[in-house]
Formats: sequence, C-alpha cells, structure tokens
Amino acid sequence: MSSGGSIYVHVPFCASKCSYCDFVSVPLGQVRPLAASYLAALRTELRPSVRLLRRIAPIRSIYIGGGTPTALPASELARLASELLTAAVSAAAGDDPVDIEFTVEANPATIDTAGLSLLLRAGVNRLSLGVQSLDPAELEALGRAHDAAQALAAIDDARAAGFENLNVDLIIGAPGQTRASLECTLESIVARRPDHVSAYCLQLETGTPLERAVASGKVQVPDADETADLYWTAVRALCSAGYRRYEVSNFALPGRECRHNLGYWECGMYLGLGAAAHSHYPSEAGGPARRWVRSWNTSDVGEYVRLVMSGHTPEAGREELDAEREARDRVMLGLRTERGVDLAEVGAAYGVRISDALLPVLRKWSLKRMVEMEGTRARIAPQAALVANVVLAECV
Ligand code: SF4
Repeated sequence: MSSGGSIYVHVPFCASKCSYCDFVSVPLGQVRPLAASYLAALRTELRPSVRLLRRIAPIRSIYIGGGTPTALPASELARLASELLTAAVSAAAGDDPVDIEFTVEANPATIDTAGLSLLLRAGVNRLSLGVQSLDPAELEALGRAHDAAQALAAIDDARAAGFENLNVDLIIGAPGQTRASLECTLESIVARRPDHVSAYCLQLETGTPLERAVASGKVQVPDADETADLYWTAVRALCSAGYRRYEVSNFALPGRECRHNLGYWECGMYLGLGAAAHSHYPSEAGGPARRWVRSWNTSDVGEYVRLVMSGHTPEAGREELDAEREARDRVMLGLRTERGVDLAEVGAAYGVRISDALLPVLRKWSLKRMVEMEGTRARIAPQAALVANVVLAECV
C-alpha cells in the first residue's frame, strides 16, 4: 500500500466536445449558470470530506481533471485550487512536510499567461496539456478546439509563466495518422522538452461521433497493426530523446514520473470530488476485518449540484472490497508499470497469499514472453505492452 493519499476533482465542462470523447463533459457555452453552481457544489462537498482527508493524509497529490478545468474562469479555478490546497495542508499532522504535486489539466485553446500565473500563485505546480497531435487534419478529425500553433504556444506560455513541470497528452492512432505525421508531431514536442508525455491509443467509444463515422466508412483510423507500428514509433522517439517509459503509455524525464498516476497504479487512497468522481480508501476497521471502499458520485452534472446543494450525498454507488480483491487489483495495475509488482510483497502488505493463485498464471505467460519475471516480481514484457489485457484478464 502506498503512503499518503490524493485528491481528484472532476470538472465536467469543455470549450467544445471532441469527436472521440465519452467522458462526462459538456460544452461550457451551453451551461454557464450550471458551471457557477457546480463550483459552489464542489466547495460544499469538500467541507465534510475533511475527516476522510485526515484519514488518507498526508496528501501527496491533487489533480483537477475533466473535462477541461481551464474552460472555467481562471480566477474561479485558482480560488478552487487554493481551497483544495488549504484543505490538503490542514489535513496533515503538524510535522508532515508539505510536498504536494498539484496538477491541472488544460486545453491549449483555454489558457493564457495571466490565467496560468493565477494558477501558479494558487499553488498549482504541474500543468497537463491536451495537445493530442500537431497535424491539422488529425486535429480536425478529432474535433479538437485548438490548432497546432495554439498547442505549441500553450507549451511556451506555460514555461514562460513559470510551470517547471509540464505534461503533454498525445493520441496514437488518430484518423489519418501515419508514421511520418506522428514523427513530425513528436519532433516538435520533444524539442520543447515537456517533463512528461502521455501517449494513449485512440479508443473508439460506442456512440461517439467518431465511432459512428468510422462505422459508416466516412472516416478511417489505423488498424491494429498500424496502431502498433505508431505506438512503437512513439516509444522509440521518446526513449531516444531521454524519456523513460515507466508505464505502457506514460513517459517521463528522470524524476518527473507523475505522482498522481503512480498513486493510482499502487492502488492508493484518494478522495474524488465532483460529478462522476471516484474515491478509494480503507475502511475504519483495522486488522483482518479491514476492507476497502470504492465509491463513485452521480455522473449527472445537474443532479450532482442538486444533491450537494440540498445537503445530500452525491454518492451514486459504493462497494466494499476484501483484502484479497484489493491485492489482486494492486497486482493488475502494477503489472503495466516498468517497475512491475512483487507478488510476495503485495501478499504481505495485505495479509493474503496472493502468489499461490497468481504465480502459476504469470509463469505461464512468461513462457510465452508476454510477462517478465524475476523471483516473485513480475511485469508485462515491453514487447507485449499493447496486448497486456490478455494477461490481465486472467488475473482477475
Ligand atoms: S477536451 Fe477532453 S474531456 Fe473535453 S471533450 Fe475533448 S477529450 Fe473530452
């Protein structure tokens, strides 16, 4: 189990809706009054959560994601950031050092230098920019609200404002993406030396405009072999530029691994605030009776505001997991990381004999070169990164 916890805040508003997106987010222009009440609801939900924050303290990371948090007025977002930081700091015991990675996600179309400075002053120290591509045709097919020039200017503005820790999100397998177009995007991104790059393969989510356009043959996306070739193109370009692939889709310069991500992969504790936000924390009972709670808020933004502002919980569901299930989740999340996961250590941490069940499964896959093993430590083999789900499905 990791020490320390996180706060995650979901902001379900964007400048416009991307063609591939099925996240809980609505274009802000259609719901401005709702956005104001949403911020009030977040503050209201935060207040009684202080008790839980104390339980998962010290808080090691805060992440405001979405959606597009920077679609909100900069002064309002900065105020929220400052309140979250105050809550996190006050939850810590007096002698805990305050060392918090504080990330805000941003769309290049929704930031300017003044707004970035406000965020920095509020304590935000990491910016995650959704660039996705620098190819004009790919950006258009993805329905992004920005062009390539805005994306590059956003990186430069973030540095000029003083952000020393910067992530860039890229998409692998965008419509029309070729090895040459991806290399072009990577060359310009790497030249600006973001500290971290996330490169996720495009998922065609059911019901999205892009999925329908692909199904009807109007738009083509790279097939599985082409996507694999694109993925390895990205891995080669980023690793040869000094980035370490510390998880299947995440690359960092030395010391710049994302603490928020690491906490998630280590099955860490987090408080989620906002519509569709999830929380994860141990029950108050200790010893063999200890269980872990996973809870989630309603994903209906209007309902979230109504519930919170009328004094009700926005929680839409929860499950309690026993130690064995927690340990399995920990193994499954850890297998995708470069460091891998030690089954014996996880078993000891949770007080279960997880290796009895999982070692034979992982040894079987190691014979097929899909898993690498050293003693009881295992990880998905680098060459099997894109088919990891086959292995993970057997670990459930
Ligand atoms: S910016 Fe992100 S959350 Fe918003 S619509 Fe696009 S993909 Fe979805």
